[in-house]
Amino acid sequence: MERKQFELGDIVQMKKPHPCGTNEMEIIRMGMDIRMKCVGCKHSVLVPRAKFEKNMKKVLRSAPASDEGTSEGN
Ligand SMILES: [Zn+2]
Repeated sequence: MERKQFELGDIVQMKKPHPCGTNEMEIIRMGMDIRMKCVGCKHSVLVPRAKFEKNMKKVLRSAPASDEGTSEGN
């Protein structure tokens, strides 16, 4: 099974829409759990990573590349 690729700041489409009717979510925090914010009503939800990967349909928009994440060993 292929692992889904997603990054902080991505807008993702979920299989099940939020109660407000929007199925687009923005990833605002990543860790053991994923915190995402509904694009429609701005409500944020915390879901376990496994559940998120299961419920996420696809990445709609990737976050713009930032300088963060480049670790330089010195
Ligand atoms: Zn919503």
